[in-house]
Amino acid sequence: MRKKLIVANWKMYKTPEEAQAFVSSLMTHVREHTRDDIVLCPAFIAIPSVVEATRDSRIGVGAQDMFWEKEGAYTGAVSAQMLLAAGCSHVIIGHSERRQYFGETDDTVNRKLRAALAAGLTPIVCVGEVLQEREAGMTEDVLRRQCSVAFREISSGEAIPIVIAYEPVWAIGTGKTATPELAAQAHRVIRAETKETFGEGVATQLRILYGGSVKPDNAQALMSQSEIDGALVGGASLDPKPFAAIVKW
Ligand code: PEP
Repeated sequence: MRKKLIVANWKMYKTPEEAQAFVSSLMTHVREHTRDDIVLCPAFIAIPSVVEATRDSRIGVGAQDMFWEKEGAYTGAVSAQMLLAAGCSHVIIGHSERRQYFGETDDTVNRKLRAALAAGLTPIVCVGEVLQEREAGMTEDVLRRQCSVAFREISSGEAIPIVIAYEPVWAIGTGKTATPELAAQAHRVIRAETKETFGEGVATQLRILYGGSVKPDNAQALMSQSEIDGALVGGASLDPKPFAAIVKW
């Protein structure tokens, strides 16, 4: 059995003070909750305050992006080593908003993924089709391409910590959610691709999360699917109450 993982992606929301207040409130709801793993991904600027606020808890902290070089003249960039030093355990890589607005490609996802693994961070790699691709019947091809390029030059041994998030782009922030069956079908495609690349032993261990308008009222139906190993939550993770309700699905 893969333990489920619920990840909050706060995007470009919350100052350090707001992030700290969120954690204090969330703790009151999930202090006793041990069934699932929880990770919060604030903006870079709020990472230290969330690390501090979660110090004596089981809640992990992740970043929303990173650069693949260790250090250098890369204005505005943050490395895996810097994230580790700040107290992060996880990092989101290849979110569709990074792909859409910041020029992220399958190739840069691969470079970031290799750097995150080499540094010892747990990467959460996002894949997913846009609406036109789904309507054209290309979902499986898109998922297979995104995964196969992302996993280039990564050995089976190195792949073990990888978390994948299936995020159909048409469901992110739109209120449209993939049905549990449709999400589970995409997860099976992703798992089949990981099996071909890394072998069955690794593929059965990898956690594949679903992301796209996850809310308290659809979390249970999604999470009850054995193929869905957790959720990457955007909008509904900004308020501790609905986020805690999703965690406790
Ligand atoms: C996300 O940002 O990864 C996401 C899934 O957002 P939302 O839950 O708002 O659709």
